[in-house]
Amino acid sequence: ELEVIDAAEPTIKAFLKVAGETALEQADAFDNLSDDEKAELPELAGVPIAIKDMIVTKGIETTAASRILEGWVPPYDATVIEKLKAAHMPLLGKTNLDEFAQGSSTEHSAFQHTSNPWDAERVPGGSGGGSAAAVGSFEAPLALGTDTGGSIRQPGALTGTVGVKPTYGGVSRFGAIAMASSLDQIGPVSRTVLDSALLQEIIGGHDKRDSTSIPEGPRPMVKAAREGMNRDLKGMKVGLVEELGGEGYQPGVEARFNEAVKKLEEMGAEVVKVSCPHFKYALGAYYIIMPSEVSSNLARYDGMRYGLRVMPPADVAQTAANMMAYTREAGFGDEVKRRIILGTYALSAGYYDAWYGSAQKVRTLIIDDFKKAFEQADVLISPTSPSTAFKFGEKMDDPLAMYMNDIATIPANLAGVPAMSIPSGLSDDGLPTGIQFIAPQQRDEVMYKPAAALE
Ligand code: GLN
Repeated sequence: ELEVIDAAEPTIKAFLKVAGETALEQADAFDNLSDDEKAELPELAGVPIAIKDMIVTKGIETTAASRILEGWVPPYDATVIEKLKAAHMPLLGKTNLDEFAQGSSTEHSAFQHTSNPWDAERVPGGSGGGSAAAVGSFEAPLALGTDTGGSIRQPGALTGTVGVKPTYGGVSRFGAIAMASSLDQIGPVSRTVLDSALLQEIIGGHDKRDSTSIPEGPRPMVKAAREGMNRDLKGMKVGLVEELGGEGYQPGVEARFNEAVKKLEEMGAEVVKVSCPHFKYALGAYYIIMPSEVSSNLARYDGMRYGLRVMPPADVAQTAANMMAYTREAGFGDEVKRRIILGTYALSAGYYDAWYGSAQKVRTLIIDDFKKAFEQADVLISPTSPSTAFKFGEKMDDPLAMYMNDIATIPANLAGVPAMSIPSGLSDDGLPTGIQFIAPQQRDEVMYKPAAALE
């Protein structure tokens, strides 16, 4: 892998930091285990993995692709990293992302642009474009991402990789840098559905250090993925979400999606149409709730505790407030500033009920839509992203066009249900498309079976 990274990185730029030496030490430590010790370890033991730089790694610089954290070397590991180390999976390094995971193209990274492995002129999606590109270009067999509104699944669709957002609370967020805490979830990026299942079983499970963690062990996802590989879906009801598709979706994306639906039917699944009438408000609600939480979470970057500190120039009063203002002005990029301002506004006295309060009500309606849909179907499907990978710069001046990328992925975050994207063939432009599977809360295994069957 380290050789592939050397060869591919000059074009792909998926990594912010390659931890070559640490990875080799960890690989040696695994090799030196006895056969008995190895037999005790999970199946992925010894397999290296890349980590989105939104996840804290002890002794390895962690920046969230922001100047404000540049140079910060965490003194502790995220729970998921502890679990990977216990499983003897070497850490290859930290992958690029949109600053603080805010974006859909990885262009908002303060440090570099990551290229799509299918076309170096195009974006790999975002915010987890680095992890998806690393896996898509064979620099890493596996990666971890974080998904707040689609940041694992949409890059998966745009790079032809598998990306999973587990049930909210299914994987510990301890050590995941907080973007919007009620939506954030760590999950696997891989080339096959089975690999994601194996990885999710390793990183999942209860963690007392995350108060939102579900007090149960991981679900039987590997078993479900293996069952799916028999390509027999008799007895399974698949719900096609009417609101996630059609207008605004690229024709090639729709065509590949329809072919996938046919294949599911050929394998014995019964496909029914389901309607989720409030999904049309999901994007609006997300872009109130998410920035509100962002504005609160990012208040901790105050120039005192971690990373960057910029003192005011000599002719300005040397106060703590001024130091904070100068640090944030220099340390945060435009998109992060935009969201902090939006969130602060939505939460301010006098506007709170109109904006944040209404958005929370919409969130409840979306949860109800899912409940009703899951009375009619075991698993729901849609295209993952309305379009294939776009060119650098194409959507940078138009935040709304950028936000539209998440139209199909956001409902799952608002409801906390698990969802995954798997490749569904190349569109007419020769670029990858993705199909999304959504399962009921805490039933992650339910989506693994049809996903593995279709793969
Ligand atoms: N693209 C979405 C956003 O910009 C999702 C981000 C994410 O999932 N981290 O908010």
